[in-house]
Amino acid sequence: EVRVRFAPSPTGALHIGGVRTALFNYLFARKHGGKFLLRLEDTDQSRFVEGAEAYILEALNWMGIQVDEGVGAEGGECGPYVQSQRKDIYQKYVQQLIDEDKAYYAFDTPEELDAMRERLMEAKVAQPQYNSITRMQMKNSLTLSAEEVKTKMDAGEPYVVRLKVPRKEEIRLNDMVRGWVKVMSIDVDDKVLLKSDGMPTYHLANVVDDHLMGITHVIRGEEWLPSAPCHVLLYDFLGWEDSMPQFAHLPLILKPDGNGKLSKRDADKKGYPVFPLDWNDPRTGEFSIGFREQGYLPETMVNFLAMLGWSPGNDEEMFTMEELCERFSIERVGKAGTKFDIQKAQWYNQQYLKNRPEADITAFVLADAQKAGYECSEEKARAIGQLMKERVTYPTQFASEGKYFFVAPEEYDDKVIRKKWTQEAVEVIGAFKNAMVAVEDFSAENIKAAYIGVCEAREIGMGKVMQSLRVSVTGQGGGADLFETIATIGKEEVSNRIEAAIN
Ligand code: GLU
Repeated sequence: EVRVRFAPSPTGALHIGGVRTALFNYLFARKHGGKFLLRLEDTDQSRFVEGAEAYILEALNWMGIQVDEGVGAEGGECGPYVQSQRKDIYQKYVQQLIDEDKAYYAFDTPEELDAMRERLMEAKVAQPQYNSITRMQMKNSLTLSAEEVKTKMDAGEPYVVRLKVPRKEEIRLNDMVRGWVKVMSIDVDDKVLLKSDGMPTYHLANVVDDHLMGITHVIRGEEWLPSAPCHVLLYDFLGWEDSMPQFAHLPLILKPDGNGKLSKRDADKKGYPVFPLDWNDPRTGEFSIGFREQGYLPETMVNFLAMLGWSPGNDEEMFTMEELCERFSIERVGKAGTKFDIQKAQWYNQQYLKNRPEADITAFVLADAQKAGYECSEEKARAIGQLMKERVTYPTQFASEGKYFFVAPEEYDDKVIRKKWTQEAVEVIGAFKNAMVAVEDFSAENIKAAYIGVCEAREIGMGKVMQSLRVSVTGQGGGADLFETIATIGKEEVSNRIEAAIN
C-alpha cells in the first residue's frame, strides 16, 4: 500500500511551495489508492509559531486535501503524529546507533565549533564541516576516553549526538524525479541527530518516523535534496535499507521572471499572494494577503498548483481535483524549476468563476455587496452575477466592478463626454428616457425595443449615442450589456440618473 506524508514544521504560514508539496502527495496517494498522512515536525522548539498548526489544517481543508491519517484525522496506528510527543521513540534509536558505533557524543561548545570553522576557512577548505577528518580534533566520544566522557556526562555538560559518517563511501539514491543522485560521503557532514535539549533533529526524527509510519514514498521540495544522502545513510545504519522509501524531490518554484526562488518578500512587494490564506505573523506582526482572501477559488489553487511542476504531457490545462487524482504521475513531474505565474492563476480563476453554478455566483455577489454596504435583493444579485461573471477575476470584485448597479455615478467618463456627448445625444437620451418610462414589462428586450424605436424615429444608427446613454446611466464608457444593466438597476433609478445627466 502506498503511504505518503506531508510533514510541515509549524514555523509559520504554509508557503505556496508547501501547499504544492501537500497537493502532490495527496494526488499520488489518491492515484494509487493509498494513504495521505499529516505529521507535524515540531522538534525545533525555538522556531515554533503559535497558530501555525491550525493554519496548516485550515489551508489543507480549504484546498480540499483530506488527511487520511495523522494530525487532523481520527485514529491511526502509528501515532502520535506530532514529533515533540515522540521523544522516547527517538531516544531508543539514538542509543542503538551509539551502541553500534554509528553515532557518537560530542561536547564541543559553540565557541569551539566557530573556532574550528574559522581555522578551516583560513586553510581555504571549500566546505568547512564537522566530518571524519575534523572530528579528530574535536571533543567527542571518538577522541575522549570513556572516563572523560562519563565525567562530562555526570557533570551535566551539554552534549549532542552526531552521525558517524564514513570517510569514503558512495551514497546513492534513485530519485523518481531526478534519477540517480550520487554523493561521496566525505561531502556529508556528521550531522547532529540529537540536540542538547534532548530533542532529535529533523534528520533523525524524519527518518525514524517515515520508517515507523510505513511511508513508501517521500515527496518533498528540492530544498531537501541535500539532506537526502544523510537520510539514506541513516536508513542504512538503522538496518532499514530494504524498506527505505522512494524519494521524489519536486522542482523549485521560481520568481515570475525566473530569477531565483520565489520568496514571500518579492510576492509582498509585487502585491500577489504566496500563502493560501491570510497570514498575520505573530512574531513580526507582518501581514500577508492569502489566495483565499484575495478571491481565488480552491479549484483554481488546486489546478494552478498542480501545473507548477506537473504536466499532463499535452496542452490540456483545466483539471479538477478528481481528474488530477486520476491523471497525476511522478513521471510527469519535471526537474527544471517552474515559474510562478500569477497571471496564469488569475486566468484560471476567471475560468472557474464563470463556470460556477448560478447559485454560487449569486451568493458571491450578495456577500460582496453586503461587505461594501450595498443593499441587494437576491434577484438583483442573480442578475448582476450573470452580467458580471466574465468581467471580474475574483468574486470579491462584484461590488467594486459593478458599483454602478448599486449607486448613481458621481462622475462621467471623460473621454466619452469629450467625444460623444453632443446636443443630439442629449436629445436622444431624453427621448429614450420617456420611452423607457412607458415600458411596462421592464425587460432588457423591451427596453432595447424602446431605444430602437427612438433611434428609428430620428433616423440615426443605434450605435451613435449608445455610449453616451451608457455613461449617463453608469458613468462608465464600458461594461455589461446596457439594456440588461438598465433592467437590473430598475426603471425609477435609471430615469433619475438620466435626468441628472442631461440636465
Ligand atoms: N519538516 C520538513 C518541512 O518543514 C519536512 C521535509 C520532508 O518532507 O522531509 O518541510
